[in-house]
Amino acid sequence: PRQFFVGGNFKMNPGSREQKQALVKVLNEANIDGSTEVVIAPPSLYLIPLKEIVRKDIQVAAQNCYVKNSGAFTGEISPVQLVDAGIPYVILGHSERRTLFHETSELVAQKTRAAIDASLKIILCVGETLQEREAGETAIVVQKQLQAAVDLLKESDYSQIVVAYEPVWAIGTGKVATSAQAQEAHADIRSYLAKAVSPAVAESTRIIYGGSVTAANCKELSTQPDVDGFLVGGASLKPEFVDIINAKK
Ligand code: 13P
Repeated sequence: PRQFFVGGNFKMNPGSREQKQALVKVLNEANIDGSTEVVIAPPSLYLIPLKEIVRKDIQVAAQNCYVKNSGAFTGEISPVQLVDAGIPYVILGHSERRTLFHETSELVAQKTRAAIDASLKIILCVGETLQEREAGETAIVVQKQLQAAVDLLKESDYSQIVVAYEPVWAIGTGKVATSAQAQEAHADIRSYLAKAVSPAVAESTRIIYGGSVTAANCKELSTQPDVDGFLVGGASLKPEFVDIINAKK
């Protein structure tokens, strides 16, 4: 059985120290399902302070890292620097990185390779646009995004990877995928992994859903056999994040 996984992607939020402390207070005082793996990803500036004040059963993740471990790369943070700071996870390939910051699947793959080499765990994000879905290209688009990483990975690397299926049209739009749409995409990813890597990796890799997940829709999504958790944006900044963590309870 795959351990349920819930990640909170704070993106470039929250703005103030007070907001951040209020959020941590809610999490620290909450009754959290101990069988779920929980990760929160604040902006890099807050990784260390947040790690120091949040309960120990919640892990902290970076939202990005670079492919090199040091050097003249102004504005970047390296995989070994994250590990050195005690940060166990990094989100890679988020659609906002791909779209707004022009990250290609090849770059995301190189980052994934570098992060694994530094012993970071990775939440690897993939997903199609509305246009691609309407053209019937969802499976092939997602497969291509994954393929770039698969080409650079070996079978044992997958124990460090969680795949996040995040359809671009569902991110921040309030337009959540139906549980049938999520299940179909997740099952396609799992069968791709079985073919491209191995049946064992396909069986053990967590595939989580992201895109307008809320307390109201998480329970139904979580009943799908190939939905192994969530990557939550907007709702991870609110008390309802606790209900999403506890979706399986
Ligand atoms: P929302 O939950 O705000 O739609 O964002 C999803 C997301 O991008 C998580 O990485």
